Amino acid sequence: MFNKDCLFCKIASGDVPSSCIYEDQLVYAFKDIAPQAPVHFLVIPKRHIDSAADINAENSRVVAHIFEIIAKLAGEQKLEGFRIVSNCGESAGQSVKHLHFHVLSGRDMTWPPG
Ligand code: 5GP
Ligand code: ZN
Repeated sequence: MFNKDCLFCKIASGDVPSSCIYEDQLVYAFKDIAPQAPVHFLVIPKRHIDSAADINAENSRVVAHIFEIIAKLAGEQKLEGFRIVSNCGESAGQSVKHLHFHVLSGRDMTWPPG
């Protein structure tokens, strides 16, 4: 549902402006405001889910849909390689508590992450 204190709920609803790259009934994709790679966008469910730790049998269909959309957008943008990241919890680097998947591409990336 809509969480009035959540930045990404407001972005998905259009209350806060963003650079949209894809939208449908279930998901919203937009450019990250502080890109960490030449390509860096975020894909979120429109319905609020706190983080990956809150995915369950009732809400997991949207996650499959998000991965379908990421594959579609990566194909359309002809991304040669890309990384999908979902930070879960503050110690893992989650700063916005609405489930989101980073899609990063356009530069070489190291592994493991810092
Ligand atoms: P996290 O740190 O939670 O994994 O990722 C949150 C991401 O949201 C960060 O990469 C940050 O740059 C991005 N972000 C934070 N506020 C805004 C905003 O107002 N607009 C957009 N487009 N991205 C944002
Ligand atoms: Zn939210």
